[in-house]
Amino acid sequence: MKTILTAVLYSLALTIAAQPGKPVVIAHRGASGYLPEHTLEAKVLAHAMGADFLEQDVVLTKDDVPIVMHDIQLETISDVARRFPDRQRTNGHYYALDFTVAEIKQLHANERINPKTGKAVYPNRFPLGQSSFQIPTLEEELQLIQGLNKTSRRVAGIYPEIKQPAWHRKQGHDISRIVLPILRRYGYVSKQDPCWIQCFEMDEVKRIRTELGWEGRLLLLLPGSPKKTDGSGGEKWFTPAGMEELAKVADGVGPELSAIVSGNSKAGRKVTDFVRNAHGAKLTVHPYTLRSDDLPKWADSMDDALEVLFVEAGLDGLFTDFSDVAVQWLGSHGKR
Ligand code: CA
Repeated sequence: MKTILTAVLYSLALTIAAQPGKPVVIAHRGASGYLPEHTLEAKVLAHAMGADFLEQDVVLTKDDVPIVMHDIQLETISDVARRFPDRQRTNGHYYALDFTVAEIKQLHANERINPKTGKAVYPNRFPLGQSSFQIPTLEEELQLIQGLNKTSRRVAGIYPEIKQPAWHRKQGHDISRIVLPILRRYGYVSKQDPCWIQCFEMDEVKRIRTELGWEGRLLLLLPGSPKKTDGSGGEKWFTPAGMEELAKVADGVGPELSAIVSGNSKAGRKVTDFVRNAHGAKLTVHPYTLRSDDLPKWADSMDDALEVLFVEAGLDGLFTDFSDVAVQWLGSHGKR
C-alpha cells in the first residue's frame, strides 16, 4: 500500500514539477535587475512582480547561521572592507564564514561591484551607496516570503542554492546539514511543497537525497557546456545516458543558457538537444540567467530570447533578473 501511495505521489510530483506549457519564472537573487541582489527589498519586489519562485543563495556565518548571499566572500556586495579592514584572509578576501551573524548585520549591502574597478557590474541598475540595505538570514527571508504569501494570497516558492558545500565542509561547517532542518521547519518537506534545492556539486546532490534524506525537489546546476566542466566527470550530465542516471537522484537540471541555445549571433543560433534529452529522462530544465541588460549574443531583445527559450526550446522555466518581463511575456502568450 505504501509503495502504491509513494508511486502515486511521485507521479503527481512530476506533474507539478514539469507542467507542460506553464513554465515557471524564478527570480534570480530576487528582482536583482532593480534592487541590490538578495536583499529583502529585492525579494519583496520579485514577489509583487509575480515570480513563481524566489531564489536564495545560501552560505554560512562563523556561528553557523545560514545567510542569503551569492558568494562565500563579502567584499563585492557590502562595505565589509571599510567596516572590518583587518579581517581579510591572506588572499585578500573577506569570508562570510569568518564573521558572526551579529557582525554581518552591521554591514551595508550594495549593488554588486567589480572588485578591480570598484564600479557597479551593471551600471544601469540600482545606484551604489544609495539608501540602506542588509544581508538577510535565511530564516528572515523565509518568514518574509511566507508573510507575503499570506497577505497577497499568492504562493511564491523558494529556490535555495547550497553554495560550495565541499568548501564549507573543508572549513569544518556542514552547510546542508544545517539548512535542511530549517527548510523542513518552515514546511518545505516534499515534492508537493513549493521548493527546489539547487547545487553545483553532484556529490552533495546525492548526499542531500540519500544521507540527509531530502524528499523535496532537487536540481543539479551545470555550466554551459561539457567543455566548461571542471574535469571531475561532470560532462556526462550533458548526455542522454548521464541524464537517465541523474534522474535517479535529481528532479531537474539547471545549465547556463548557452547549453539550451548555442551561437554568437541571431543568424547563427541553434536550439540544442539539451531540453529534449532532459525531458526524455523526465528531468525538468531551469537554466540561468536571462538579463535584459546583458542579453545572450544570439538574441536581440528579451521578447526574442523568451520566444526562442519557451517556444522553440520548450523550457520548463528559467532564472532571470527581470521577473516582470518574463511574467508579462508568458501572460501575453497564454502560458500563465
Ligand atoms: Ca544561485
